[in-house]
Amino acid sequence: MRNDNLSVDTITFLGTAGARFMVARQLAASGGLWLNLSGTEILVDPGPGSIVQSTKRKLRADKLSAIILSHRHLDHSADVNIMVEAMTNGGFNRHGWLFAPADALETEPVIFSYLKNYIEGIKVLEEGKSYSMGNISFNTPVRHIHPVETYGMVFRTPRHTFAYIADTRYFAGLCQNYASELLIINLVFMESKLLVNPSATLMEPGLPVDHLSMPDAERIIKEVKPKIAILSHFGMSVWKAKPWEIAQRLSQQTGVRVIAARDGMKFDLAQLDDN
Ligand SMILES: [Zn+2]
Repeated sequence: MRNDNLSVDTITFLGTAGARFMVARQLAASGGLWLNLSGTEILVDPGPGSIVQSTKRKLRADKLSAIILSHRHLDHSADVNIMVEAMTNGGFNRHGWLFAPADALETEPVIFSYLKNYIEGIKVLEEGKSYSMGNISFNTPVRHIHPVETYGMVFRTPRHTFAYIADTRYFAGLCQNYASELLIINLVFMESKLLVNPSATLMEPGLPVDHLSMPDAERIIKEVKPKIAILSHFGMSVWKAKPWEIAQRLSQQTGVRVIAARDGMKFDLAQLDDN
């Protein structure tokens, strides 16, 4: 007998905005990925609005088993405190785990200390480690190149594998760590080389080169050859170029089905089965 909840794997995109300008203006929503993997619910990267977007979509934080942060940047962690409170029913239902890199927890922790007592515990993400919860597991194969300690993840459910490539600069060896049927790529820029204004002000930072661009996405999809690739976490330049058109172009260039995530999109991993 098939128990539907236990045999279904879905990913809900609470938002698709990435990086500071898109997130600050909420041109698209932000809030992370809500995974329901064979009955285990996990929230990844609860950026600003996670509590709003999840409740709006009738997703119940008290059903979460874990919250995972790829890194401490605001667009990935801003709502971690409220989501821990919601997960544990204000601390009255102590359960769940928080996973985060060490530098999100040490000198300037992203989580308030009183909330740590609400959860079962905190697990520190490290390069090359695996973690499991019930019948699902994930690993953090390689430390990314990003201004703070950052990891992507490869998830394994009884039926599927998928990879989430969080913020990073492209580097040799990135792809070999993310072999999977489904790739989720945080696509922030159109161009891999930014024109940095020599008289750059705070409004024109020369920093954000540590992100993936459209040419990087093409290279990654060609090398990993997933069945499906989903683009999300769009920066302003990607947003202006219309992510769905970029997805179409990348599909033609790579021969892989590429989808641009939409706010609230619920992707059923059963789509991988009929490819
Ligand atoms: Zn970041």
